[in-house]
Amino acid sequence: MKVIVLGAGLLGVTSAYFLRQLGHDVVVIDRQASAAAETSFANGGQISVSHAEPWANPGAPLKVLKWLGREDAPLLFRLRADMRQWLWGLQFLRECTPARTRHNIAQIVRLGTYSRDTLQQLRRDTGLQYDQRTQGILHFYTSAAEFEAAEAPAAQMRELGCERRLISADEAVRIEPALAHVRGQLAGATYTAEDESGDANRFARELVALCERDGVVFRMSHTITALRTDGGRIDHVEATDHEGRFQRVRGDAYVVAMGSLSPLLVKPLGIALPIYPAKGYSVTMPVLDADKAHQVSLTDDEYKLVFSRLGNRLRIAGTAELNGYDRDLNRVRCEAIVRRVQELFPGAGDASQAQFWTGLRPATPSNVPVIGATKLPNLYLNTGHGTLGWTHACGSGKSIARIVSGLTPEVDFAFTRATAPVTRPQVLGAAVSRG
Ligand SMILES: Cc1cc2nc3c(=O)[nH]c(=O)nc-3n(C[C@H](O)[C@H](O)[C@H](O)COP(=O)(O)OP(=O)(O)OC[C@H]3O[C@@H](n4cnc5c(N)ncnc54)[C@H](O)[C@@H]3O)c2cc1C
Repeated sequence: MKVIVLGAGLLGVTSAYFLRQLGHDVVVIDRQASAAAETSFANGGQISVSHAEPWANPGAPLKVLKWLGREDAPLLFRLRADMRQWLWGLQFLRECTPARTRHNIAQIVRLGTYSRDTLQQLRRDTGLQYDQRTQGILHFYTSAAEFEAAEAPAAQMRELGCERRLISADEAVRIEPALAHVRGQLAGATYTAEDESGDANRFARELVALCERDGVVFRMSHTITALRTDGGRIDHVEATDHEGRFQRVRGDAYVVAMGSLSPLLVKPLGIALPIYPAKGYSVTMPVLDADKAHQVSLTDDEYKLVFSRLGNRLRIAGTAELNGYDRDLNRVRCEAIVRRVQELFPGAGDASQAQFWTGLRPATPSNVPVIGATKLPNLYLNTGHGTLGWTHACGSGKSIARIVSGLTPEVDFAFTRATAPVTRPQVLGAAVSRG
């Protein structure tokens, strides 16, 4: 089959790789000149099955209210006259019950574990190098109450096979000696030895090279403008090239992997995707003193920041702002991140050479991505990966490749339209609260 993949971020590139592995002719279309140039450009780098607790959880509504209007809030709703944002907010509230939280954690852990295994297998098969580290992820807490609250979700993750252990502050410092400086502030930590980190952008670029060698065609600098139907199926994609020339691209099947732009493309087809952009920040700086810099990938619970060591660079990422498609850098947020890095690891990185970046996470209210078939028989979705698109990329890419090929996916996950056909209103429901 000829399969057209729309979008060359982490999800598009991994879909293309696994589709090619299953013998398809694959064409990838993206508006950027190179792959992984948007949200997959400078993320936190964590392959974190343990980061499975969704934003929507029983404690979230109160915290979000408290953070309203605070410029440095970890999760900030900037309320706009935007129906999609309000609808998303209401769906988010619905996902905050204990039962929904447990359900969503199960989905996220199962896909995460499968995805991490798939990434490790891909590494063995290809020898791909992307500044990866396999030293686990250490999530540390400076609030005793938050540390206590971490126990229940960690226990659920262990039941699901994700070995997220609660450890003392002393053990945390043994695992990551660079934390010694703030030992007195630590209430405790969790550690997941099997989790990893690595440069997602470098991974995607290396995988593109492998795909190209294997015959996958990348049509870069092409802006997709519409999907056209004929006889109840997708007939072709419309796009314009870098000189504005109109193009029609035809295939037998189409996979939408356009991140936070995906809902806009499929809306005219009557498919309502509950995806809204959640802007995040990252800071990348060269290591100044290797002895003071962390090696293990870390999560700072209080500031909701993640830290990864990418070769001789430090990458720090986090915060979420729901404010439409705006990607502006907010100085207050950038400075807050740099301040926190200097507080935790003074002298470790060269802040004078810090590079700032923002990206739009394609966030669903449940944090569960939308992967699978649609009501149109040759249209598929691999999108809505929010905070965990790097962690879930390989598992999602392999799963959608299997679904497109008529094979059963290898992971127990609520893929869209995995069972009986659904009508239009349920397509939205299916995406929000499947299974
Ligand atoms: C600050 C931050 C930190 C993060 N940290 C982590 C982390 O530590 N671990 C983790 O697992 N995840 C992390 N993530 C999440 C992860 O980066 C995303 O989930 C992932 O990059 C999404 O990939 P994607 O392929 O869906 O979207 P994208 O990378 O945005 O790809 C979509 C592609 O579609 C293309 N496109 C869009 N519209 C059009 C159009 N009209 N025509 C043609 N092309 C189009 C874009 O050019 C783009 O290349 C983080 C995200 C952020 C913002």
